[in-house]
This record gives sequence, structure tokens and C-alpha cells, in this order.
Amino acid sequence: MNITVLGAGYVGLTLAAVLSDFGHRVWVVRKDSQKNEALKNGQVHFFEPGLEALVKKNLASGRLCPTTDYQEAVPHSEIVFIAVGTPSLSSGEMDITQVFESAAEVGRNLRRGYTLIVNKSTVPPGTTWKVSQIIQKNKKRPSNFEISFCPEFLREGSAVQDTLHPDRVVIGTETPRAARILKQLHQPFGAPILQCRITSAELIKYTANAYLALRIVFINQIADLCEKIGADVEEVVKGIGLDKRIGSHYWYPGLGYGGSCFPKDVAGLAFFADKKGMEDNLFTKMHQLNKARIDKTLKRISEQFVSLKGKVVGVLGLACKQGTDDVRKSPAMDIVRALLKKGVRIQAYDPLAMENAKRELEGVKFCANPYQVAEKAEALLILTDWPEFKKIDLRKIKKAMKKNFIFDSRNLLAKEQVAALGFNYLSVGR
Ligand code: NAD
Repeated sequence: MNITVLGAGYVGLTLAAVLSDFGHRVWVVRKDSQKNEALKNGQVHFFEPGLEALVKKNLASGRLCPTTDYQEAVPHSEIVFIAVGTPSLSSGEMDITQVFESAAEVGRNLRRGYTLIVNKSTVPPGTTWKVSQIIQKNKKRPSNFEISFCPEFLREGSAVQDTLHPDRVVIGTETPRAARILKQLHQPFGAPILQCRITSAELIKYTANAYLALRIVFINQIADLCEKIGADVEEVVKGIGLDKRIGSHYWYPGLGYGGSCFPKDVAGLAFFADKKGMEDNLFTKMHQLNKARIDKTLKRISEQFVSLKGKVVGVLGLACKQGTDDVRKSPAMDIVRALLKKGVRIQAYDPLAMENAKRELEGVKFCANPYQVAEKAEALLILTDWPEFKKIDLRKIKKAMKKNFIFDSRNLLAKEQVAALGFNYLSVGR
């Protein structure tokens, strides 16, 4: 098939690379001409395992075509995917401007024949129908188009693998032709396919993200209780996880959820539910509790010092989670920003995210490894769950540090072992 993907971010570029690898001809349209030139040379502007190699392979085959020109792509495509950003406004409302702008461009460039437009950007229920109206309004020639919504479930850090092997494919469509095309397109992925109404598909995406975020909020509440009563949240997780109805996966006590999706999607759902007359809703409370984790963590760190001003503090991890260089809505970055405001001297290391962090943080000393971070530090904070931090040589760390306080926000280290080495060790819920 001939396919256009609008947006060359985590979702759009990964989708375009995978579909072109399956043998389709794919134009990937972005607005930024500098990044587009770089992409033509095989450079991807963010880190995602395996993506750059896949992009290079399919650029070489001529099936993947980066462009900034809608006219070069849309009129030649049977399917057009919308995979642009949907950030949050300060009210929590989802900003769907990029989706509407790209819809208008699609309308202006539609060909005379049939085109299926598939929205993949996470949007409040009802938005995809508005996209259809915008396309209709901007049409320049008589053309036949249909609309659908297919939510994306990939995770940053494993975007290519998640796209190749999804747990399920959700196809929100109300017409047999669109359903047939999308089922055919997704057949090679070998995943169960659920066909449903467009509005249900839009809500499925929100529901999945809100539920995963809820598990994080929930276990953090239990962790807080553990700290009050001397229980260990890791033991509690093991105990509940053996119940098949609950499961042992996806329990992450720590700094709360972050990243480019959960915070904005929970806030977006809270705003949406409120607008629909559910003022007293769970999602608003989740959002509040999650935001409060940062202040709570800062308080726990501050309690270790008479004053933090002028202290040297080492930070391990800046990315919103392990496996990615994305620092958008990273709780680690929030902690660092707050400490800088208190006059703390931060020295930090992250295996992948330092370039992105440098653009946002001023006055931080960026280090080449965890041992440089520990040099003369009065505290060491582990803020991202990178597996390599589990393996740090604690004796070497102790030698380098001025004082012996470690705050492990991700419960990566073995508590007894760290204490045995003479550290003053604080973790979460244990
Ligand atoms: P992103 O910010 O990485 O990429 C979006 C891209 O769209 C940007 O490069 C932007 O320049 C481009 N863009 C904006 N307007 C455009 C236009 N008119 N034409 C062409 N390109 C345009 O975002 P992302 O992480 O890829 O997310 C895209 C959508 O998918 C969001 O709605 C997000 O919530 C959802 N989503 C993201 C993930 C994830 O893990 N990142 C997972 C599932 C769903």
C-alpha cells in the first residue's frame, strides 16, 4: 500500500519505519525541515533501540520517504495516519491543535479517489469525528474519505518491539471498508484484533493509561503506609502479586508516574470527566496524589540536612524511566529543578538522557559515570530505574562521597547490603 504518516516522533516514525519494512511505501511528513534533512540521512532525533537501523534500511530500499511536503505524500496514499503530539494545557485539558492542523492539511491535499484517515494521536473521545469535519471543510476537490481511530500502545524504550509485537490491535471504525483495510494492514502483526466504535477506541486508550497510572498511585499509597508502620512494600507486592487476579507485574513504588503520556493523559481524562458532569472523579484525585510525590520526596531528603543550601548532591538518572532519553515530565528532572532552587549544587549522570537534560537544566555539573557523581557529595539520589545503577560498586561510591546518605527512590539496591556498608540509606516504603 501507499501510506502517509503525519508526525515523525516516537509513534509516527516508529510506525512509518515498521510499515515500510513490511513492504509498504511510506511517506513520513514532519514540519521541521532541518530534522527532515537529518532523517533523510538516517539520523533519528531521539533514542529508541533498533529504530535508527530500521530507518536506514528502509531509506536505502526507497520505501521510507521523509518529507515536509503534504502534497508529496497525501494525494498518493490510500491510508493517512495522524500521529502528531497532544500535549497538556495548564488546565489539564488536552491541546489538540496539532491534530486539527494536520487534519486541515489532509483535507487540502486529499486526492479524488478513496482515502482512509486513521488517527493514532491520543485524543479526548469525540475528537476523531471533529477531525472528520475539519477534513470535509478543507477539501479542495470531490473526494471520498473515511475516518477511524487506532490507539497506539507502544512504550518508549521498546517502541520498535512493541510496534512489531503488540498485545492487541484496536480498530475504531464504523464502516466495513475501513475495517477491512485496517484488518488487512494489521494481519502481519499476528496480534488479536478488536474492532469497536470510534468513541470506544478513543476511551480504550485513556482507560489503559489511567489504569496503569492508577497502579502506581495505589502502590505509592501503600508504600507511604509501610513507612508509617514498619512494613516493606516490596514484600507486600510479592504477597499480592501471587494472586492471579492481581499479578506481580507493573508495581513501581517510587516518585510517581512521569513521562510524555501518563501525566497528560490522566490530567486529560480528569478534565474530560469533569466536563461531562463527573466533577468528583478518581482521575482528578490520582493527578493530585501523583503530583504530591515530588514534594513528599523533597521533604524526606531535606529532613536529612539542617540546610540544603550549598550542599553537593549527586543524582543518578534524569530520564523519565530507564531505556529512554526522554526527559519530558520526568520526576527526576522535577526533583533536580526543585533542589537547584534551594541552592543545592547538583552533579548528575544518566546513561542516555544527559543531552536532553542539558537543554533544560542550568547550573548542573554533568558527569561521565556514577563515581564522578559521588565525588565529594553529601548525598546520592537514585532517581531513575536504570538497571546499571543496581550494579554500582558501593565501596567505590562510599570512598568518593563526603557523607554517606543514599536516597534510592526506585528501590534498586539491596537494603541490608547497603546498610552493612555503613550508608545512611533511605528507600521507598521499606
Ligand atoms: P512526539 O512529540 O514525539 O512527536 C509528534 C511529532 O508530530 C513532532 O515531531 C511534531 O513536530 C510533529 N507534528 C506536529 N504537528 C504536525 C503537523 N501538522 N504535521 C506533521 N507533523 C507534525 O509525540 P509522540 O510521543 O510520537 O506521540 C504522538 C501521539 O501518540 C500523542 O498523542 C501521544 O499521546 C500518543 N502516544 C505516545 C506514546 C509514547 O510513548 N510516546 C505512546 C502511545 C501514544
